[in-house]
Amino acid sequence: MTVRRLRTSFPAILIAVAFLAAGCRATPPSSETVPVLVSPAPSPGFPSAEKTVVPAAPSDEAADNEIARVIAISVDGLNPRAIQKLGRSRTPAIHRLMREGAYTLNARTIREQTRTLPNHTAMFTGRRVEGQRGGHGYTENVDNGTTIHQAAGHYVASVFDVVHDNGGSTAMFAAKIKFNLYKRTWNAHGGPDRAGRNDGRANIDRFTIDVNNTRLVAKLTAELRRSPREFTFVHLSLPDRAGHAHGFMRKEYLDAVEQTDRLLGRILDTVADRPGLHRHTLVLLTTDHGGDGATHYAADKLKNYRIPFMAWGPGIPAGRDLYALNPTFRSPGTSRTNYRGKQPIRNADLANVVTDALDLPRVPGSEFNSPRSLNLFR
Ligand SMILES: [Zn+2]
Repeated sequence: MTVRRLRTSFPAILIAVAFLAAGCRATPPSSETVPVLVSPAPSPGFPSAEKTVVPAAPSDEAADNEIARVIAISVDGLNPRAIQKLGRSRTPAIHRLMREGAYTLNARTIREQTRTLPNHTAMFTGRRVEGQRGGHGYTENVDNGTTIHQAAGHYVASVFDVVHDNGGSTAMFAAKIKFNLYKRTWNAHGGPDRAGRNDGRANIDRFTIDVNNTRLVAKLTAELRRSPREFTFVHLSLPDRAGHAHGFMRKEYLDAVEQTDRLLGRILDTVADRPGLHRHTLVLLTTDHGGDGATHYAADKLKNYRIPFMAWGPGIPAGRDLYALNPTFRSPGTSRTNYRGKQPIRNADLANVVTDALDLPRVPGSEFNSPRSLNLFR
């Protein structure tokens, strides 16, 4: 089943479904700041390079799943110990994902770094960091005004490219201004569409930044009710923000995880309340890094590199450990791991989990889960 066919088959009547419970509860907490809507940044003079998009082909592992849409959520700085410490009573949405979906609390970041932009770039591209070894090359944790292509020295395709070029619609909702790096990279400097109909060079159809997480999720759930995309990426920032201000795993940090869980609950409720969404939507949850003490920058610390990875949706077995489902991956214990031999489940597997679930070609140049061997389904 192709993405385009699924999109046109989605009942337009959903447009008529007005403001439901999830949106009504979207009351911004006083601790959050005013909305920031960011306009496109000026383009740096990077010559747009060619990209190669493999023509659509029958998928590898997940060809007959029911998934037509993916919502991938990254909760910035989500230490799995916080999930265990808060328990089901204070993180009911995350525990719903664990109870009804497949998950591990022992996934890994990319090895080289436990910072936000290098890890999110890995999630989008399926690449490690180090450019000399096929990585995406973006080592900074600030938006330096350039592009990922410039960091790598060549065009770096993303999961957004693959979904978009094959006729799907894409969105990113992010809670940090520096995510403008991705708008510049895959919209202003997106490569030409070489698969099927020409869908243009802007690969992220809707790009929204709002540092107010509550309002960001309200915008997201409004869109999910009105016109859900084939691929939606969501970045939430409260735990990271509280961790830097007060210390990771401190009270304020745990409160931020609890607050974020309520936002996750709104997203899950929005999906679960609509049969057209619920029957065909895969929800993924992971993070860019953990954190403990004052920061999360040391890439050799367990508290920073150990992260959750969760999948929830039709066909996903309830309550299953992802390592038990995936003997070709190795649960890493407490080790940091490298890139040789059997791999742990990583946040960077995300790009090709998405392409696999949507029956699309792998992300060109990707390394992680490139064979699409990570199986989420029964
Ligand atoms: Zn941080």
